[in-house]
Amino acid sequence: MNTSEKQNTIFPQGEKASPDYFTGLVMFKSLVPNDATLNCQVGNVVFEPGGRNNWHTHSGGQILLVTDGIGYYQEKGNPIQVLHKGDVVVIAPNIVHWHGASHDSEFTHIAINPNTQNGIVNWLERVTDEEYNSIQK
Ligand code: MN
Repeated sequence: MNTSEKQNTIFPQGEKASPDYFTGLVMFKSLVPNDATLNCQVGNVVFEPGGRNNWHTHSGGQILLVTDGIGYYQEKGNPIQVLHKGDVVVIAPNIVHWHGASHDSEFTHIAINPNTQNGIVNWLERVTDEEYNSIQK
């Protein structure tokens, strides 16, 4: 682990995310619960190095605000993109993708899930080590 990238998290780390949908240690803290007025859910997610979510889609789309560390983002059929603090990722509805930490650094993002009346997340298969390791170094 690259200690120079040690997290200085703004929001509480929350609880361990379900191993059914995440690989490695991932912590989730709900910041804004979903409700029928705003139809928008916001959460803080902290990934340990190597931690990532399964392939998935969001029926209402998603916005990621990277607040710390170095992470990866991949849409199905495209190369892995490297994310750094300050990056913003806008994910269109129903795009198959995953996000998580890089190999050597923790990673924190705020996940904004709008249009929750259309659904929040549809979980798919796990991101294999082969897929995760496909990052061009
Ligand atoms: Mn997502």
